[in-house]
Order: sequence, then structure tokens, then C-alpha cells
Amino acid sequence: MTTILNDTPYAIGIDLGGTKTESLLLAPDGTVLLRQRRPTPRDGGYDAVLTVVVEMIGAAAAHLPPAATYTVGTGIPGSIDAVTGLVRNANSTCLIGRSLQADLEQLLGHPAAVRNDADCFTLAECRAGAGQGYGLVFGVIMGTGCGGGICIDGVVREGPHRIAGEWGHFPVDRDGAECYCGKRGCVETLISGSGVEGAFYREYGQRLTMDQIVAQARAGEQRCRQVFERFLDDFGRCLGGLISILDPDAVVLGGGLSNIDELYTVGIERVRHYAFHDRLRTPILQNRLGDSAGVFGAAWIGQVVVSS
Ligand SMILES: [Zn+2]
Repeated sequence: MTTILNDTPYAIGIDLGGTKTESLLLAPDGTVLLRQRRPTPRDGGYDAVLTVVVEMIGAAAAHLPPAATYTVGTGIPGSIDAVTGLVRNANSTCLIGRSLQADLEQLLGHPAAVRNDADCFTLAECRAGAGQGYGLVFGVIMGTGCGGGICIDGVVREGPHRIAGEWGHFPVDRDGAECYCGKRGCVETLISGSGVEGAFYREYGQRLTMDQIVAQARAGEQRCRQVFERFLDDFGRCLGGLISILDPDAVVLGGGLSNIDELYTVGIERVRHYAFHDRLRTPILQNRLGDSAGVFGAAWIGQVVVSS
């Protein structure tokens, strides 16, 4: 059962990323009282990550007025299994199979919601960013990996398996590259940074970063142009298919790849080509909150407490 707490004044948010972890303390009126950033430990595994998160929540809580009540929300690059409560499909692999929410709650002695970072991103963009004013918003994160979230009238849709919006692991190419999830040709293998870099390496035996591929494609380098044009076409095919299923009021793009200008020109043309409507009008928008969406979304998602 999901209970929305309207009378909880302060909110602590944690955005646990692969390279950095960010914390935020919001006052009842939305004022930012504290915002901190620390590197996510690379060594030390799960325990080291857990320690950093607990310390950052403690540092934020130390700024609360005496006896103030507060919520805690944490966004992670993975999802929580609705049945077992364990983390699954996380880019930060040390989290996989761990009971992060239960461990946090035990160490903090306080309820702590843990949710997918794409859900946090989508909620934040709906409340304060590019998704404001739209009913059903599909939020896309295209970075190293590819994720998504669905927000309906300002509420995150999780679904009975808590996988709503997980289009990154929708297998679209039976002959495609192997994905870490165990399947082939997932959306993530086609339109994420790691997916495009992997495709370039398989075809040309050379390791280029996504930034290099984009820059060289713009400069006219033939191999990069071919891979980049296919990326834009795959973006259109994947997102066009998704729009045909969900018909959202808007799509908001986030993650490092959302800064690629061509997504909003050629990319949108390809979406229109593949979607099942010949006059598609769905706004496909660049995010407005940038890096801040994750930690604000985590703080706001913590205000929704799930109890079973
Ligand atoms: Zn996959």
C-alpha cells in the first residue's frame, strides 16, 4: 500500500550514482538547506557504498531542527524487486542482490525509500522541469546505460513488478549484441553510450568514446557517421515504438546523451517515421534540471512511503 505523507516537513534525498553520490536536504517550503557531493567508493564494495550513503544522510539530518520529522529517499541505478526487496539490474553491480532499503533502515533507525533513478528523474522533471503541465510523462535516461520512468499526473507509476518504464531492457534485435541482463539486442545495447561504443568496436576494432564518435561524425568521418546515423535511427525506432504503446503527453530526455542536438532534429524525424501515427505531435523535450533532477527526485520520492 502506498501512503502519501502530506504533513512531513523536511525531505532528505540521496542520488547514488556510479561515480558520485549527492545528498540534499529540503525544508518544508522547498528551500535547499544542504547539498553535498562525494565520490561513490570504487573499492570496498557494497559496505563502502552503504557507509557513504548513511554518513551523508546523517550529515543532512544533523541540519534538521530539534525533533523535526523528515523523509529519506534514495535513487539508485537499478530497481528493487517488488517480491524480494533486493536490488536487481543495477549498473553499480555491487548493489545487485543486496537488501539496500532494509539495510539503510536498520542503520538509520528510520524509514528510507529506495527507487530507480529514472523514476526519480521523471518525477523531478514533472514537478519542476520540462515535464510540468503534462499528464502522462515518459522520462528517458540515456547515458552509459538506458532507463526510463513513467509519471502520471505527478505520481510515479511503478507497477506490480516495479519495472514500469524499464524500456532499456526491451529486446528489439534478435541478432543484436549481448546485454548484461542476459538477453540480446536490448534498447540499451542500441542507444546508450556503452551500446554505441560497443557497436563501433565490434565493427571497426577501435575503441572510441561516444563523445568522440559524435564529434567525428559531425566532422564527416565516414565510420563515425554511419554509426551515429544508425544510433539516431535506432533512437527513433525504440522511442517511436514506445510512443505507440503509451501515447504519452510528453517525453523528457535526460542523461549525458540528451545533450546531443541531433536527437531533437533528425532523431525526432525518425521517431515520427516509426510511431504509429503519421502526424505525431508528442513533445520530445530536453530536461531542464540537468544533474539536479536525480537528487531532487529522490527527496520527493522519499515522501511517498511504501508499507506492506
Ligand atoms: Zn538488457
